[in-house]
Amino acid sequence: MAKHTIVLIPGDGIGPEVTRATQRVLEAAGLSVEWVELPAGASAIEQRFDNVLPQRTLAAVQAHKVALKGPVTTPVGKGFRSVNVQLRQKLNLYAAVRPVRSLAGVKTRFENVDMVIVRENTEGLYSGIENEVVPGVVTSLKVASNAACIRIARYAFRYATKRHRKKITVFHKANIMKMSDGIFLDAARKIHEDEYPNIDYEEVIIDAGCMKLVSDPTKFDVLLMENLYGDLVSDLCAGLVGGLGVVPGANIGDDAAVFEAVHGSAPDIAGKGVANPLALIMSAVMMLNHIHEEAIAEKIKSAYNAVLAEGKSLTRDLQGTATTEQFTDALIAKIK
Ligand code: NAD
Repeated sequence: MAKHTIVLIPGDGIGPEVTRATQRVLEAAGLSVEWVELPAGASAIEQRFDNVLPQRTLAAVQAHKVALKGPVTTPVGKGFRSVNVQLRQKLNLYAAVRPVRSLAGVKTRFENVDMVIVRENTEGLYSGIENEVVPGVVTSLKVASNAACIRIARYAFRYATKRHRKKITVFHKANIMKMSDGIFLDAARKIHEDEYPNIDYEEVIIDAGCMKLVSDPTKFDVLLMENLYGDLVSDLCAGLVGGLGVVPGANIGDDAAVFEAVHGSAPDIAGKGVANPLALIMSAVMMLNHIHEEAIAEKIKSAYNAVLAEGKSLTRDLQGTATTEQFTDALIAKIK
């Protein structure tokens, strides 16, 4: 019997290509796993499920507690609610964790970038509470509850402590959104003062914070913010270290965790075999640490670091010419 049962959601666009590559790497590194493969996204509708997040898929993640997920396509405007927002809210995956670090062999404007974005994943403007007040006028409610703000602040400080991080910076706009961002700041201050005074703490207004990030990202360590800010800042930070193809992500709750890359389904390159699978492979490394398979995680990390440093088998997004398969083969060849 396999040691782990993990739900695999291939998703849409480049999703199936990068999830296959990741499965190959995990199995080559010796992970004993039974995959429970289930659909979500546009592919679920194509398979005649009645929701982009079928009940079967949700129930499997609830039962097995860990999922590896490819990106899904979300139709813009009316229609189904986003799979990602549904998953995060229904499974209470309240913390999005996105490590961003410079990689040897991936040339960018900065070196020594090493930060982690911790994003509140269940509230803010992603609550989906929108109304038409009168014809032609709509409102979108930004929700901030004390319980969720305390929960994410405590998660960020606990994470920083476990990972030997030194500083937490909260990005906010409490000068304008005095109540919603105010309650977020109050929670962070309280957890800092009451529970983790040993971690350095600072607050930065997000517009100035973005300027500081692109001027010198090495000044930052752990960044803590609400949902929308975290979504935007994660992609901005991905650009600092080589783009969306090299940044992993985890959505963590108390009862389940879903690991996925920050990037989307990339319809422009889907089916061409040129997508970079590294972001999902890195997300799988976060998953391995979560399920206490640290030795396998370390093997895969050393292997992709070696492939990147060598610079011979990089995909197009990293100015190489390798296909998804060639990159994956090169990585597997380096697993010791
Ligand atoms: P995207 O991340 O799919 O693509 C942005 C650009 O980055 C494109 O040029 C794409 O080719 C490139 N890119 C992304 N991932 C890459 C990879 N692994 N290798 C090489 N190049 C890569 O963003 P988008 O175009 O704004 O969104 C497309 C769809 O994805 C939308 O339907 C959106 O809703 C969805 N989306 C899903 C998720 C998710 O499921 N977690 C996240 C973001 C966007």
